[in-house]
Amino acid sequence: MKAAPVLAIVVPCYREEETLPVTAPVLGNLLRGMMEDGMVSPESYICFVNDGSRDGTWTEILRLQEESPVYRGINLSRNFGHQSALMAGLLTAEADVYVSIDADLQDDEQKIREMVQLYLEGKDIVYGCRDKRDTDTWFKRTTALMFYSLRAWMGCDTIRNHADYRLMSRRAVDELRRFGEVNLYLRGVVPLLGFPHGYVYYDRKERKQGESKYPLMKMLRFAWNGVVNFSEFPLLCVVWAGAVSLAVSLILILWTLMQWSAGHTVPGWTSTVLVIALFGSLQFIFTGVLGLYIAKIFKETKRRPLYIVQDDCTPHRH
Ligand code: UDP
Ligand code: MG
Repeated sequence: MKAAPVLAIVVPCYREEETLPVTAPVLGNLLRGMMEDGMVSPESYICFVNDGSRDGTWTEILRLQEESPVYRGINLSRNFGHQSALMAGLLTAEADVYVSIDADLQDDEQKIREMVQLYLEGKDIVYGCRDKRDTDTWFKRTTALMFYSLRAWMGCDTIRNHADYRLMSRRAVDELRRFGEVNLYLRGVVPLLGFPHGYVYYDRKERKQGESKYPLMKMLRFAWNGVVNFSEFPLLCVVWAGAVSLAVSLILILWTLMQWSAGHTVPGWTSTVLVIALFGSLQFIFTGVLGLYIAKIFKETKRRPLYIVQDDCTPHRH
């Protein structure tokens, strides 16, 4: 039988001084329970990543570290944002398996047990997905659903109702390390890893302490990353729009010439319409084509791995 894995629960924290005193004992007790059941190694721990908060978040993390070795912390030099803080935790903390969860515990932490169970059964990635969204405002619920559909429609690999509550095995995290994304949208990148994966479902709770650190503008910027980093579809739309407008303008040109030859036009009108229609649509197409090249360059600069090996049974030279 395999030894119980070391689990690291990674918690990004930005201005969470009120939240941590509530969150830490809940996660701590859960982890201790799992250790007692022999599900995870006694060396497992919770890794709080302070994302440059200027309030007492880091002081609180240091206090927790004093209290028990299950609490550990990483302090970032400034605020890098949720996704980068999460990545910092995953790539810095040493463990066999990782679970990421928000500091406000809106996501049902009890499901971590189920996630680890799936890991023990051979899954490398377990996505936490919300069943209902009745704790969200109507606005957030509707825009989120529209966004998922839009992404899926544009051909991006989309896991509906999944935020960043997930389990990843060490080998999945090691492969994630090879992705050089700067405009991070982890919930889009992780499905690109492949590997055996599973899902757990839960109801999301309301935030009890502090307020959301995701105002509308931040959310929109994030959603933009979620589309642009994964799809060339908007650019293809420009090219197609150009092609359609060229077709329409050719008809327009024919019609204008007919009007002109029938003597129905004032001097200057025909040539003006011709020039606008033709060059307008050509510019449309050319911009789209340039955009497609830029998309290729963008893809190259991201340097995503070409492939990920899951099992290698070839003889190795040492
Ligand atoms: N967070 C972070 N850096 C930031 C903003 C947020 O590390 O710049 C953390 C925050 O402390 C929380 C998680 O990201 O643990 C999600 O934030 P929040 O709960 O405010 O987002 P919401 O649930 O409202 O989408
Ligand atoms: Mg939250």
